[in-house]
Amino acid sequence: MTAAVSVPPVAGTARRDIPAFVRAGERMMWIGGRQVAAVSGRTLPNTDPATEEALAGVPRGEAADVDAAVHAARAAFTDPAWAEMSPDRRGRILNQIADVIEEHADELATIDSVNMGAPRVLTTHMLAEASEVFRYYAGWPTKLSGVSVPAGKDRMAYTRKEPLGVVGIIWGWNGPMGQLPGKLAPALAAGNTVVLKPAETASLSTLRLAELLAGTDLPAGVVNVVTGLGAEAGQALVAHPGVAKIAFTGSTATGKLVQRQAADTLKRVTLELGGKSPSVVFADADLDVAVRGVAAGFLGNAGQACVAGSRVFVEEGIREEFVEKLLKTMEAFTPGDPLTRGTLVGPLSTKAQFDRVSSYLDIAREEGANVVTGGGRFGDHGYFFAPTLLDDVRPDMRVVREEIFGPVGVITTFTDIDDAIARANDTDYGLAASVWTTNLTTAHRMAAAIEAGTVWINTWAEMSTGNLPFGGYKQSGLGREGGLEGLDTYTQVKTVRIAL
Ligand code: NDP
Repeated sequence: MTAAVSVPPVAGTARRDIPAFVRAGERMMWIGGRQVAAVSGRTLPNTDPATEEALAGVPRGEAADVDAAVHAARAAFTDPAWAEMSPDRRGRILNQIADVIEEHADELATIDSVNMGAPRVLTTHMLAEASEVFRYYAGWPTKLSGVSVPAGKDRMAYTRKEPLGVVGIIWGWNGPMGQLPGKLAPALAAGNTVVLKPAETASLSTLRLAELLAGTDLPAGVVNVVTGLGAEAGQALVAHPGVAKIAFTGSTATGKLVQRQAADTLKRVTLELGGKSPSVVFADADLDVAVRGVAAGFLGNAGQACVAGSRVFVEEGIREEFVEKLLKTMEAFTPGDPLTRGTLVGPLSTKAQFDRVSSYLDIAREEGANVVTGGGRFGDHGYFFAPTLLDDVRPDMRVVREEIFGPVGVITTFTDIDDAIARANDTDYGLAASVWTTNLTTAHRMAAAIEAGTVWINTWAEMSTGNLPFGGYKQSGLGREGGLEGLDTYTQVKTVRIAL
C-alpha cells in the first residue's frame, strides 16, 4: 500500500494570511536592547517549506556579533538594575513575559508554522505551554534558598544559590517556541543574562519575541539574540570565554561537538539531544487508544521530534490487527497546509531535511526493509513527505538505529516482557518511551526497566509545563530541563563560613 500522491492544498506564500513579520524584508538581531544588523551586513534567507517561497531574511551574525552580545549580556549581569533586582520583582517580570506570550500566541504560533512547517495545532500547543513554563519559573526567584549548616558554637555556615553569569542558549528548528522556554525561563529566574542563538532556518519567532520582550520591564541587555549559522555564531558562542554555560538542544553529533568545545573554557553544559524512542504495545492494551498514540508518536511534527516514537514493537499475536488499525489511523496524518485547521502534519522543515529523510528511504530499501506505506514525496511542491511505515526490519539496520527525523516508523514484534525490554533498550539513545498495556504490573516493570528519561504509559508526548524534569539517558543528553532540577543547572552554590 502506498499513500496517494496529490498536491496538498497550499496557497502561494504571497496569498497566505501570515503575519507581516515573516513576509519579505530583513529582520534585525537584538543586542544590548537595540536592534542591529550583522557587523558584516550579511543576511540569511528563509523559506516557507509549504510553498518553497521566500520569507523575511535574518542577519548572518558571526564571532564579532556574538562578542558584542556577550559584552552586552555581561554588562547587564552586573548592572544593579538586574543584579540587585528583588526576587519578587524578577518573578513579576517572568509573569509579564508569560503575559506577552499569551497575548501574541496566535502570531508567534503562525510565524513558527510558516517558518518551519509545523501545523498550527502543534505550534498553538507549544505557545500555550511556553507561557505556562514562564509562569512556573516566575514562582522560583523568591524560593531560591540555600541552607544553613551546623558548624559549631562559634561558627556559622550557610550556602547561597547564585547565578552563573552569561548563558548561551542554542536550540533547534523543529520547535523554536517549544524548546526555548525550558531554557530561558529558568536562566532568568536564577538571575542570569542570556545570548540566544536560534536555528538558522527558524529564527523569526525568536526575533519577534525579542521585540515583544523590549516592551516588558526586562532591563536592556538581559536577553540578546544573535542569528546566524551554527558553525559561525553558534561555535563562537560556545567558545566565548565570557559565557558561563551553554544550554543546547540539537542533534547528538552537534551536542558532542559543543561539549568538546565548551571544555576549553570549562563551561557548564546541558544537552537535550536526539532519540530513537520505542513505543511498546502489549496484547492486553486498548488497541484503539494505543494505535492513535503510536501513530502520533512517529508522525507528529512530521516525525521531526526528539521524542519521536519511531521504533514500534507489538506483541506477537496482535501484529496483524494492530498494523491494520495503524494504517487506517495514519490516514488522519495525511500532510496538508500547516495553517489549515485540522492539519496534523505539515511539510518537512527544509529541503535539506527532505533530502535527508528521502535518503533514509533509499537506505531502507537497500537494507531490505519493506515499505508498508508511504516511502517518498507527497504532492508536487513543498517539502511534504508521505507518512511511512517500514517492516521486515532487523535490529542492526540503519533505519532502526539512527534518528531519521521524518515521518517514518519501523515496526517489529516481541514475544514477552523480557524480550520487549531488551528490544526497547537496544539503542544508543534514551530520551523517551511509551508503553501500552492495561496490566499494572507490566506497566510498572516496563517503566522501571526502560532506559529513558521519560516513560509514558498509555499516553504519548505529554510534555510538562515546567514542573517535571525532562532529559535524556545514554546519548540523548546531559542534565535535565524543568522543575527544580532544571533551575539548579542555572545556579552555582557558594559556601559562606563565619567565625562568630
Ligand atoms: P543541530 O544539532 O544541527 O542544530 C542545533 C543547533 O545547534 C542549531 O541552532 C544549529 O545552528 C546549532 N549548531 C550547529 N553546529 C554548531 C556548532 N558547531 N556549534 C554550536 N552550535 C551549532 O540539530 P537540528 O537543528 O537538526 O535539530 C534536530 C535535532 O535536535 C534532532 O537530533 C533532535 O532529536 C534534537 N532535539 C532534541 C530535543 C530534546 O529536548 N532532547 C528536542 C528537539 C530536538 P544551525 O541552525 O545553523 O545549524
